[in-house]
Amino acid sequence: MRPKRLFVIIISIIVLFSFSIMAKKPPRLYNDLPGYLQDFKKTVERQAREYPDTFYLSATTGEKVVALTFDDGPDLDNTPAILDILGEAGVKVTFFLVGEKVEKYPEITRRIMREGHQLANHSWSHSDLRDLSNENILDKEIFPTSRLIARLTGNYPRYLRPPYGAIKDRTIELLEQKGWKIVNWSLDSFDWNNSQNTPDEIIEKVERYIHPGAVILLHSGEVNSSTVEALPELINRLKEKGYKFRTVEELIPQGKGDYLTIDKLKELSRTLGVAFVKRSNWPLGVIIGHEGLLIDGDLYHFVFY
Ligand SMILES: [Zn+2]
Repeated sequence: MRPKRLFVIIISIIVLFSFSIMAKKPPRLYNDLPGYLQDFKKTVERQAREYPDTFYLSATTGEKVVALTFDDGPDLDNTPAILDILGEAGVKVTFFLVGEKVEKYPEITRRIMREGHQLANHSWSHSDLRDLSNENILDKEIFPTSRLIARLTGNYPRYLRPPYGAIKDRTIELLEQKGWKIVNWSLDSFDWNNSQNTPDEIIEKVERYIHPGAVILLHSGEVNSSTVEALPELINRLKEKGYKFRTVEELIPQGKGDYLTIDKLKELSRTLGVAFVKRSNWPLGVIIGHEGLLIDGDLYHFVFY
């Protein structure tokens, strides 16, 4: 019957339309936040919309996968305790490490790597990057941290979480050119906030705002023992809800071609007529760029010949 068919068509259009809206759901910070964090929320949501391939709050997926992320480590107590819990639960996570603490605790840093977690960059000194020039951000905060992690573990992280989640647009643009990913969070556990971070409060917050593709903010610094207490139960609750755990790079992969292998590099040298030389075998030549390329944990520079 005609009216019936028309009804089916209209319903299908509505369903398809709502799917397309769902697919385009703009990135957001899921927490209900107090007044003083409203500006922050607006800023990061705008940055995630404007730089969709560089600045992330979460992963775009309908699958029940989440990334637990731990900032401000390593330290001597909470980070090892967290690693023990994660090992027991068989969960892989991402640690956004502070360079000056990596320098202090190289053994814990290596342990994070050995146990299969992702190591990422949380600046050298935990300064607010908005107060620094782009040049200082790269040379004093970001590059030294990734170089040190690379020296210790063989992996050069190109994932950054700025301290306090705060970064200027023009710093995002600079990092975008260099192929970095900046990953904030879509769900704040508030474990950093002493007025609401009992283990129960941390778990309650995560359960309330959990969503597919969530990037969950937690901490593994010296002061975050409440996080350690909450973690086993937090993992259980998420597992009960059917969530699987992924690292940030599994949820938000670096684009193809971002990583260079030695073979690829040799091919590129022949084509371009430049040599790539390890810093340790410093040759005579013109050095271009102050960062160079890190391959297999070694810093290479371009040299004309
Ligand atoms: Zn931090």
